[in-house]
Amino acid sequence: MRAHRPGDVPCRSTESAATDARVSRATSTAAPVLEVFRSIQGEGRYLGEPQVFVRTRGCPLRCRYCDTPHSWVARPEQNARIAQGSALAAPEREEPGLASPFQVALWVAEVEDRGPKLTVSWTGGEPLAWPNFGREFARLVAPRRLHLETGGGHPRTLAELLGLFHHVSLDLKLPGDLDAPVELAARAALLEAGAEPSAEPAPHDARTWRAARRDCLDLLSGRDACAKLVVTATSSEREAFEAIDDLAEIAPDLPLFVQPSSPMPRAAAPTLAQLRALWEYALEHDLAVRVVPQVHRLLDLR
Ligand code: SF4
Repeated sequence: MRAHRPGDVPCRSTESAATDARVSRATSTAAPVLEVFRSIQGEGRYLGEPQVFVRTRGCPLRCRYCDTPHSWVARPEQNARIAQGSALAAPEREEPGLASPFQVALWVAEVEDRGPKLTVSWTGGEPLAWPNFGREFARLVAPRRLHLETGGGHPRTLAELLGLFHHVSLDLKLPGDLDAPVELAARAALLEAGAEPSAEPAPHDARTWRAARRDCLDLLSGRDACAKLVVTATSSEREAFEAIDDLAEIAPDLPLFVQPSSPMPRAAAPTLAQLRALWEYALEHDLAVRVVPQVHRLLDLR
């Protein structure tokens, strides 16, 4: 099947399609897509739920435990993988990845394969890098539930888009686990091609990370949301306690998922003693804490 380029809207009259094309180019609603696939949610509050995942490219963060470093770079010419099933070996095909919200909504319907409408998890990369895409995409996938998985480095953009999401999974990043952020290199080419990245810079040190975290928690308190704390063998206990302090002070209603890092070349898994120290600290702060590894990886799913 031919992919629809940004602003290329199928199944309508030629006149309305032409109008949509002009609107789409004017507002730059496309986004670089890495993959669209169906699987089960392997993390957080909706653990185990069958969902459709839309993974957009582009992330300024550099978590040493990142399991999707191939999502970091976004360029207009990259392809997207559209996968029909949840297993790593499921049939898949490639399409031009710089796609309009309408094209991505078609891919969502395609991987549902005429089954029930599933919750859509928008993940990355950092999804909040593409706010214009998000606004239109949310409208097009309704009435499905739309969940956001964010690294938590873009509180201003989160504030703008928050009303679009039925659930937000927020990472509590520990600055000591991150290398310096790297902003998108192909920004001009992406803009030219119809994808407008967020102008909000990523946090770059402990102070700006803490401010971003506290702003995000303030936005999510009282909502359907959860906080995720990934822990590696070298994670700082002091930083983790500080993140738990912020959660307990600002959004104590959010469940906390402590997630032992899946082993990565630059991030070994934490010890049980490390995990116990964190769950005990969370319990002392009256938080609803769960310790859960990445279940989709245990099941060898995508
Ligand atoms: S925020 Fe997510 S995609 Fe970005 S580097 Fe961290 S783990 Fe990887």
